[in-house]
Amino acid sequence: MSLSPIVEPLIGWFDQNKRLLPWRRDRAPYHVWISEIMLQQTRIEAVMGYYARFLDALPDVKHLSEVDDDTLMKLWEGLGYYSRARNLKKAAVMIMEEHGGVFPRTYDALRRLPGIGDYTAGAIASICFDEKVPAVDGNVLRVIARIQGNRENVLLPQTKKRVTEELTRVMPTRPGAFNEGLMELGELVCLPNGIPLCERCPIRDACTAYREGLTEELPVRIKTTKRRRVDLSVFIITAEDGRIAVEKRPEKGLLSGLYQLPNLEGFHDEAALAEALTAWRLSPTEITFEKDAKHVFTHIDWFMKAYRVQTAKKADRFLWVTEEELKSAYPLPTAFQKLI
Ligand code: SF4
Repeated sequence: MSLSPIVEPLIGWFDQNKRLLPWRRDRAPYHVWISEIMLQQTRIEAVMGYYARFLDALPDVKHLSEVDDDTLMKLWEGLGYYSRARNLKKAAVMIMEEHGGVFPRTYDALRRLPGIGDYTAGAIASICFDEKVPAVDGNVLRVIARIQGNRENVLLPQTKKRVTEELTRVMPTRPGAFNEGLMELGELVCLPNGIPLCERCPIRDACTAYREGLTEELPVRIKTTKRRRVDLSVFIITAEDGRIAVEKRPEKGLLSGLYQLPNLEGFHDEAALAEALTAWRLSPTEITFEKDAKHVFTHIDWFMKAYRVQTAKKADRFLWVTEEELKSAYPLPTAFQKLI
C-alpha cells in the first residue's frame, strides 16, 4: 500500500501539535544530533535534564571534541549505553579534523561518523538540511506496520529496509516535518502495547489496522537474539576513614572505561566472599548482605547480590573515594548506583 495519502495530513497535524522541545527551538545540527543520540533507548522526560546539562558544559562540537573522558562519562552517567557518549566524542573529533569543524550536511557524510546510523543520519539530514531521506526507528516501524496492516516482524532488517524504501518514494518537500511527524505520532498517538489513541489520529482514514481492528496485534515483534545471564557478587567496601573502594572497568567491552564497585562473578557463601576479599589484600571485619538487584543491558541481564564490607586495611588495587567524590568525579553506571 502506498504511503502517499498520509503525507499531507501528517505534516499538517505535526505543525499544529508538535511539542516545543528544547532541540526544536532551532534546527542546529549539533542540537538535533545530541538529542537524537540521547533519545535512543531513553524517554524524552528523562533526557531533558541531561540535554540541558550537556549543552551547558559542551555547547558545540569543538568543546565536545576536547572534553576529557571522565567529564564526558559524568555528563552521561545514568543514561546508559555509554558507547553512545564515546562515539559522540569520536565523531566530534572527526568533524574538527576532517570537516574543518563544520557539521557534514548530507546523509552519506553523516552516516560515516562514528555512532551515527541510518536513523540518526536520516533525522539530521532531513530536519537540519531538508534532504529527502527517511528516519526509521521503532516508533516509525510501528506506525507504518499499523497503517499498512503489515504482519512482517518489525525487528528484522528486511522489514526496516522495505519501510525505508517505501518512505523514500513519498518524501515531500518538507522531509524533516514528515519524519518528525511520524516520530511524534508514534510517541503521542500511535502508542505501543496495543493502546493507540486512534480517535485523535490525523491519518486514521488511511489506516488498515484501525479499519480492520488490528491495532492490538500490530506490529509483530519477534525477538531472535538470546539473552545471557550473569550473576555478580558486588561489594560496597568501606574503610575506617569512610572512603569507598572503586575501580576502573577495562577499556574494552561492556561499560568500558567507567568505574565500578569491586565485584566477583557468581554467587558465593560468606566464607568464599571473605576469601576473595582477603586475596584482594583487604582485611574484612564485617560482611553483611545488603540487597538483590537486577540490571538489564541489551543482550545481558546482570543479577546482583550486594554486600556491605568494612575493612581494616585499604588495598592499593582500588581507588578509595569519599561519597562526595564518587558523586562528582567518578562516573558510576546505574547498575552499581542502584546498590548504594
Ligand atoms: S489510526 Fe490508530 S493505529 Fe492507525 S496510525 Fe493512527 S493511531 Fe496508529
